[in-house]
Amino acid sequence: APRSSAELIQAEGPVLAHNYHPLPVVVARAEGVWVEDVEGRRYLDMLAGYSALNFGHRHPALIEAAHRQLDQLTLTSRAFHNDRLAGFAEGLAELTGLDMVLPMNTGAEAVESGIKVARKWAYDVKGVPADRATIVVAGGNFHGRTTTIVGFSDDDTARVGFGPFAPGFRTVPYNDLAALEAALDETTAAVLIEPIQGEAGVLIPDDGYLTGVRELTRRNGCLFIADEIQSGLGRTGTTLAVEHESVVPDMLLLGKALGGGIVPVSAVVARREVLGVLGPGQHGSTFGGNPLAAAVGSAVVELLATGEFQRRAAELGAQLRGGLAALTGKGVTGFRARGLWAGVDIDPALGTGREISERLLKEGVLVKDTHGSTIRLAPPLTITAEELESALGSLERALG
Ligand code: PLP
Repeated sequence: APRSSAELIQAEGPVLAHNYHPLPVVVARAEGVWVEDVEGRRYLDMLAGYSALNFGHRHPALIEAAHRQLDQLTLTSRAFHNDRLAGFAEGLAELTGLDMVLPMNTGAEAVESGIKVARKWAYDVKGVPADRATIVVAGGNFHGRTTTIVGFSDDDTARVGFGPFAPGFRTVPYNDLAALEAALDETTAAVLIEPIQGEAGVLIPDDGYLTGVRELTRRNGCLFIADEIQSGLGRTGTTLAVEHESVVPDMLLLGKALGGGIVPVSAVVARREVLGVLGPGQHGSTFGGNPLAAAVGSAVVELLATGEFQRRAAELGAQLRGGLAALTGKGVTGFRARGLWAGVDIDPALGTGREISERLLKEGVLVKDTHGSTIRLAPPLTITAEELESALGSLERALG
């Protein structure tokens, strides 16, 4: 007999690593913004796979692209060319206004790859002495889970117990241009930041910060690397979050929604002078750039090229901000929002972020807490105004 949600949750305990603490819901099916559990209960997905499901679950155009590719070719490795990769790279370069693409799989891999490329660029082009390159990162960052990346995290849970760590990183406070300027010197290969810090609670820097980062990196002669793995691809009402300040970084890191919620697809996208430093054998990935990933990634790029999702995120974002403003003082102590993305601080007297998430689960809404009493809202960009209103109503009841 099929196992119940409770049985499946219990069955995980002894056989799955405990590196997550999921909410007690076992999802079995999904379509658009709705997911359904094993028992057939329906939930509105207000997390969207941490922005990997920007187009909703099983968007028809993406499913069709995947099905079509499954019937043709799924993997070649990069030992050979495949007939889908050129089109994917052309589309992504055009969408982002940059020149070259390095296809990878997960977000953390894109970050690792970006770090490698920046260091190589620093030695080959900037002339930094061998093994002296530094990368400046921001406090409160989240860039993934590899040993190099957690080594420059200031989140103890993510970092402590996993050393020794790779050297070559300097941390400055986020949203502080003076501190950034002081950290740059002749060894600096790059400044790596999130244009909006997602895991930190959707922290939006002051207007002018990204412009300042661009100006300081230009003046120093180092690279500006924007990690748009969570903020990019429509989420904030523009294709990229850096567009809010009309800033063009030297290197973009993309992931999550690039795979349409179907396959892991990430990429380093950069100017030719930057990504051009890699030669054969210096970097690679068995699955990076595989034809299934490229086919889905191309379909994602086509959806974004219409501008429809960015427009929806901007319009519905106004509704989201309005709804959250109305709840401020009624259980919400503050919020930060851009497009369809919000970090909402809940009055700690009403419960932890986890407890509010559990109450929302009972209301039929899926969200995830981040630090302390903050919950994050990031619905699929396909959500309707009515569905968003209903989610805000559920939040009001969960706080009541
Ligand atoms: N960078 C940012 C800004 C992220 O938000 C994340 C994931 O949450 C990552 C990198 C890591 O991506 P992945 O989990 O696919 O390795």
